[in-house]
Amino acid sequence: MMAVTKPRNESQAPQFAGNFDAEDGHVVDVEVLIIGAGPTGAAAAIHAARSGFDTLMVDAAEFPRDKTCGDGLTPRAIHELESLGLAEEITSGYRNRGLKLHGFGASVTAPWPDSAFGAVGSAMPRKTLDQLIVDAALRAGARLWDGTYAQAVRLGDRGIEEVSVKRGARQVCVRPKVVLVADGVRSTFGRILGRTWHRGEVYGIAARSYCSSSFHDEPWIHSHLELRDELGVIQPGYGWIFPLGNGDVNLGCGALSTDRRPAKVNTKKLLQHYAAHQQTEWELGEPRLVTSAMLPMGGAVSQVSGPNWALLGDAAACVNPLNGEGIDYGMETARLAVELITDNIGDARSWSRLTLKDSWPALLRERYGKAFLLARTLARALTHPKFLPAAGPLAMRGPLGAKLMPAAARLMGNLVTPEDEDLVARTWRASGLAMGKLRRHSPLWS
Ligand SMILES: Cc1cc2nc3c(=O)[nH]c(=O)nc-3n(C[C@H](O)[C@H](O)[C@H](O)COP(=O)(O)OP(=O)(O)OC[C@H]3O[C@@H](n4cnc5c(N)ncnc54)[C@H](O)[C@@H]3O)c2cc1C
Repeated sequence: MMAVTKPRNESQAPQFAGNFDAEDGHVVDVEVLIIGAGPTGAAAAIHAARSGFDTLMVDAAEFPRDKTCGDGLTPRAIHELESLGLAEEITSGYRNRGLKLHGFGASVTAPWPDSAFGAVGSAMPRKTLDQLIVDAALRAGARLWDGTYAQAVRLGDRGIEEVSVKRGARQVCVRPKVVLVADGVRSTFGRILGRTWHRGEVYGIAARSYCSSSFHDEPWIHSHLELRDELGVIQPGYGWIFPLGNGDVNLGCGALSTDRRPAKVNTKKLLQHYAAHQQTEWELGEPRLVTSAMLPMGGAVSQVSGPNWALLGDAAACVNPLNGEGIDYGMETARLAVELITDNIGDARSWSRLTLKDSWPALLRERYGKAFLLARTLARALTHPKFLPAAGPLAMRGPLGAKLMPAAARLMGNLVTPEDEDLVARTWRASGLAMGKLRRHSPLWS
């Protein structure tokens, strides 16, 4: 965490967070500054530029850049990409129809439900996908400074007044009206602003790889819920094979963890074991580009906004706790934030009316609170070593499985319905666990 230094006269002078240094005098004024140009930041840039705002994205990486991910795009993500004008370009290369879940001696096929989001999913390597969205943002009129690290802020009465960015050897001072922080899971810039991750809640650790496969254009994504290590012990997570339609599949595995019950898993090793297990069936080549990452999930972070700034996407832990998917939520939060800003400042574009401090977390809670708490509660149960071996066979087989599995597939596809909430809540209560109690005590963008 960067040091926070305060000037002597705190009541009048602005506060500095981080090593603020714009001595060489480069000052740039913008309306919307976006930190991070992944799917969340680039989608925010498209919406902001389309709304007529002078928009600048800064990203520490040089584009095109890779990102550790399963590359899966749910119908919910495709729906959002449609509003960005990009869905056709993506689904014309590869499309999938739903999810096949395997484990405990059974397989369940769960087509994407015909929801308001449509029933078409896809998958695309992040290096390609993220560049597509960035290009669309540039076409919409936003600017990108890649290779540029946002490292400090100057805070005043109206929130962030200046951001110091390091662009190559140059230090530049950006003076924004509003800052959208989309700097991903570690949220280095968000942390300067006080963003706190609650590790007592469920989080994920996951690894991905690319493997050549004869079945690279199979129209279903596959998840293996019975994920065992080389000693045969069931792990609290799942393995995935997401066909990409380009000769490769994205193969990976993730485990769920909490501070109290940390998953003692080497995910890269587990991935090799899982790949070896699936090798014959999928005619897999050797796993390449194996990388791993952590994932805060289900809104388990606090301090996500100030008067003129808001955290979006992964930075705000907008990731489904059951499957680690967050591209859809990232792009949605991008759209919602720009809508909120536009509403706040009105037609007169009165920036002094901007008040995101309370309204942003309230909006996140309204949109995602229920579904995230539900998924987080189930995910927490999975971290109990005895839960999955006992519940897995019941859930995958028999009459309960027939009801639960389609609901689980919807939960995993971020397509949860009110009926699913009822069903899971009832199952949860029937198993004797107090969901209400957990809900009240769970931090959620608070
Ligand atoms: C193993 C794994 C598998 C996953 N599988 C899926 C999946 O199949 N489907 C799915 O929907 N989601 C998946 N996810 C989650 C998904 O990757 C994230 O939800 C998604 O990347 C969020 O996008 P983002 O734009 O918020 O963040 P990111 O894509 O991480 O982008 C953040 C950007 O911010 C930049 N940045 C960071 N700090 C700074 C700074 N200080 N200054 C300037 N720039 C900065 C970074 O360089 C980066 O480009 C997976 C995650 C993992 C770890």
